[in-house]
Amino acid sequence: MITSIKQWFTPPVFEDDEEKTLRASLLNAGAITAILFSSLVIFGILIGGKTPKSTLLIDVFALTISLLLHQWLRRGKIEFAGIWLMTLGFILITGAIASLGTIRTPTTTNYLLLVVMSGVLFDLRGILTSTIASSMAVLGLILAENAGILPQPDYAVTVTQWITYTGAFGITGGLFFFTFQSMRKTITRAEREITERKRVEVELRKLTQAVEQSPASIAITDLKANIEYVNPRFTQVTGYGFDEVIGKKPSILKTDLTPAETYSQLWETITAGNEWRGEFVNRKKNGSLYYESAIISPITDLNGVFTHYLAVKEDITERKRAEEALQKANEQLQAHLTEIENLHTELREQALRDPLTGLYNRRYLSETIKREIIRAKREKNHLSVIMSDIDHFKIINDTYGHQVGDQFLLKIANLMKKHARGSDIVCRYGGEEFLLVLPATTVKSAAKRAEEIRQKCKKIIIQHEGKDVSITLSFGVACYPTHGQAVDEIITKADKAMYQSKHSGRNKVTTYLKPSNKSDSIALPPLTKLKTR
Ligand code: GH3
Ligand code: MG
Ligand code: MG
Repeated sequence: MITSIKQWFTPPVFEDDEEKTLRASLLNAGAITAILFSSLVIFGILIGGKTPKSTLLIDVFALTISLLLHQWLRRGKIEFAGIWLMTLGFILITGAIASLGTIRTPTTTNYLLLVVMSGVLFDLRGILTSTIASSMAVLGLILAENAGILPQPDYAVTVTQWITYTGAFGITGGLFFFTFQSMRKTITRAEREITERKRVEVELRKLTQAVEQSPASIAITDLKANIEYVNPRFTQVTGYGFDEVIGKKPSILKTDLTPAETYSQLWETITAGNEWRGEFVNRKKNGSLYYESAIISPITDLNGVFTHYLAVKEDITERKRAEEALQKANEQLQAHLTEIENLHTELREQALRDPLTGLYNRRYLSETIKREIIRAKREKNHLSVIMSDIDHFKIINDTYGHQVGDQFLLKIANLMKKHARGSDIVCRYGGEEFLLVLPATTVKSAAKRAEEIRQKCKKIIIQHEGKDVSITLSFGVACYPTHGQAVDEIITKADKAMYQSKHSGRNKVTTYLKPSNKSDSIALPPLTKLKTR
């Protein structure tokens, strides 16, 4: 019951329209005042009994309209209710003045109340309409009085009073309206500022919490690098308490392990207004070292003037350690790989070389000579092969032992190596057979070179039990493309030529010739007997 009474008195609220709510509350106040007032007047008339009937009728009319007004307000018909309230006001005031029979009563000033109320409800339009309406009502009353319709007191009201009344209504209403407007604007602005400040405060609170809970170390310094703020993570990482670092410089963390250029670059960048990114090796309060990656930038005020520096840093010690470990592992792996590679090369070399003389073996030769032939083909060049075999080597071994034999093999190998030119290949082809591949060499020059070697080999001497032992070699020469196209063909022909040398007395150089022509040997006296000096 009490709640519904309260509700009846409470003005309606329009959530999304402040202006409408304000007007409704004004109208509500007006309507309730009118209801209460007209009810009381009706009650008074009924008790008093002497009041003319017309007055009772006007009051009943006023009560009815006021109740309707209250109802319209509830339904949100603000404008409609407003117009009716104002109209009712005019009728009541004018009716009251007319029934009292004089414009000079204080009731006339009630028009002023109407003008002000209209201004509040309907802005300038309201003031204008209500001022004109009041003015017309006063004029009508003046005219009625002068015409004798209304009772005339001891002096007549004139145009002067009419103008004065109209002026008073208009000016007072207008002034009130403008004062009210500017007051409302000020209040609205203040409200907006408060809302904005509250919003900024909420934003600030959020950001502060983010900074406080950030997993990154955050420090803010003034322009002289004096620390003004550090977040909890900073104190956690460095071991310095909040109070211990405030007013100090970040250099309390500095170590010689961070290059001096890092600091000079940092200052150069941030004093120029730019963001700097880099890494430090810093020292904690307990003396231990740690790596930090940092982003440092200047903070500006609203006018763009630098006020502070902000450092956001991350402890990257773990990462650095992992990187270092990885690098170390990488280096070790690399070293192992190099070792394996060297071993591989060595094994390959070993597989390709003869262990006694260090010369290439037959396997290497077969790989290489093919390439050399292809090149010779491409370059339209000759390629000669010299096959050589020690004469009566078995006898050497049998007579002086294998060691002496080996010494001969070594000496011949060295001699051949020395004799070889840039692209020549010297190879130990078999037990005591040596093969030379001479790219870009004609058969004639090859035979000449074989002869030179033969001469030099003859001079090799090994001392054995006080005796000088020497040997001789037989040579065979064949050439691409003169004696064939394929590798095997040329080697076989060089071998055949070498056997020709053997058969024709040994210690000779023989160039391969077709069977009909026989091999062309450089005539030398045959070595039939092993010579000792
Ligand atoms: P020929 O003039 O007809 O060539 O007679 P030869 O005795 O040299 O006969 P052959 O070429 O068939 O003999 C090869 C000998 O070379 C057999 C072997 O004892 C000897 N020999 C092979 N390899 C080595 C070696 O590494 N060291 C030594 N000391 N002797 C070797
Ligand atoms: Mg042999
Ligand atoms: Mg031999």
